[in-house]
Amino acid sequence: MAKDQSHVLIINCGSSSLKFSLFAGEGRTAVVSGLAENLGQPESRLILKENDAKVTIALDGGSHDAALRRLMDSLKERDLLDAIGAVGHRIVHGGERFTKAIRLDTEVLDEIEILSYLAPLHNPANVLGVRVAMEALGWVPHVAVFDTSFHMTIPQAAHAYAIPQAYRDAGVRRYGFHGTSHGFVAKEAVELLGLDPSDHGLVIAHLGNGSSATAVLNGESVDTSMGLTPLEGLVMGTRSGDIDPGAIFHIARQDKLSIDELDTLLNRRSGLLGLSGLSNDCRTLESAATEGHEGAILALDAMVHRLARYIGGLATSLPRLDAVVFTGGIGENSAFVRRKTIARLKVLGIALDDEANGQMFGGRCGVISASGSRTAAAVIATNEEWAIANEARPYIGKAS
Ligand code: ADP
Repeated sequence: MAKDQSHVLIINCGSSSLKFSLFAGEGRTAVVSGLAENLGQPESRLILKENDAKVTIALDGGSHDAALRRLMDSLKERDLLDAIGAVGHRIVHGGERFTKAIRLDTEVLDEIEILSYLAPLHNPANVLGVRVAMEALGWVPHVAVFDTSFHMTIPQAAHAYAIPQAYRDAGVRRYGFHGTSHGFVAKEAVELLGLDPSDHGLVIAHLGNGSSATAVLNGESVDTSMGLTPLEGLVMGTRSGDIDPGAIFHIARQDKLSIDELDTLLNRRSGLLGLSGLSNDCRTLESAATEGHEGAILALDAMVHRLARYIGGLATSLPRLDAVVFTGGIGENSAFVRRKTIARLKVLGIALDDEANGQMFGGRCGVISASGSRTAAAVIATNEEWAIANEARPYIGKAS
């Protein structure tokens, strides 16, 4: 058996992909990570990253179970399989039921499956990943970590939609997502900025393909931009974020669109992609904008406008605002988006240090506000996988 069983394997399972990371002890960098993609299709493959090396293994049409079996073989070859002491699973929706991470068993898994009506695109795939992994790695504890849990502290006034009670009783409310990231970044921000853990206020902007902003008071989420699903709020890569429901009725009537077609329109064809008519990728849009592409300019302007409006709004859910923190692929790397956004936040007393801002990319963390700024601004690299590993690690060696 294992030498120490101090490793934690993290699994993030989608409908046709499976991402994984293996962490050794408390180390923040995965010793092995990668993904299996195009699962169930002829070109399915497993990509394994280790230090700077990358290995691609064909799965020949194999699906999730084939990917996981191949991954386990690869870990065994590296003498790492027996070192796994726990598996942490990213689960998108925990509804109101799951306010923190929980050890998985068949009952918990059934409950997560029931919550699929709240996240039909995500939870069934997450559950599939858990089932396959529990079969393949049956001898260690499996732990579910939910994207929604961190937001369960949001007060009712902030999470209630103004709709009749029958719908609210049926669970239609704002839940919020990216909770693992917001929670991790909030803790890091307290350390970086030397804040009092029990007396501080932050607005965190997690900007990636999916984006959300959260108001954090003394370590707890008190308001957030995403809702029942990850579609509400900011302008994202392909998601519209906020839109008047009346506009959706209008589009549906005019083009006779089904619910599924509306879902595709707002989740996959909108956001930066829909606005620019060019790309969902912020990097591509930034270079197109410098060459004068009008769609790219509009997409970036609209994204920044919505973001600044949300940051301002979320600040009103806090008794004090110490800092605005940027994270996620765009938040960590785009000095342009940060500069444009902060230029809109003068009312919150934020002044940018242009030079510091220009130096934050590629995982660097630090303060980007000027020394006299009333409110700080900072960049913090998120590490959701490691945060999930931290939740799963306490279960190592615990009998069920
Ligand atoms: P996901 O939500 O899928 O995890 P990421 O957090 O990786 O996404 O963010 C992806 C986004 O980050 C893309 O829009 C990408 O263009 C953007 N991004 C990455 N690097 C840069 C950069 N140097 N400048 C601007 N945007 C960047």
